[in-house]
Amino acid sequence: MEAMEELLNDLCSDIEYASHEIKSESVTFYAVSKQQQAECPDCGQISAKADSSYERVIYDLPIMGKRTIIVLRAQTFKCANEACRRKSFSERFSFLEPHSRRTKRLNSHLLEIAVETSAIKASSAAKNSIAPIGRTAIGRLIKKNPPS
Ligand SMILES: [Zn+2]
Repeated sequence: MEAMEELLNDLCSDIEYASHEIKSESVTFYAVSKQQQAECPDCGQISAKADSSYERVIYDLPIMGKRTIIVLRAQTFKCANEACRRKSFSERFSFLEPHSRRTKRLNSHLLEIAVETSAIKASSAAKNSIAPIGRTAIGRLIKKNPPS
């Protein structure tokens, strides 16, 4: 297996590597969801009815000091429970909070920088080489995960 493919597989076994592109300032992975089923966030019923797909752009930990982006073809599923008010929903991934544009491991990394320095420094360090994130977003991360 190629090294770049392995890097992506380390993140999550539910997504499949398609290709990657290395530029002077960034590494971009293209990946596809492999999940065959998903749990409805409202009623909890498992659905195996994929409905449509859409593209998610997610930042991950930098590779070789370059900003790293995952362009993921994710799926929506139809809820199979007729009593449920939700008709369709987006699948979830273990490495990602719903609707987040950053992987959990990138958030932890940013949090570490912010706790060691400051939200302002973490934000400017992130903008230079990791991911666009403002200091208010970093502040929210700190509030959600107070250092123990
Ligand atoms: Zn449901």
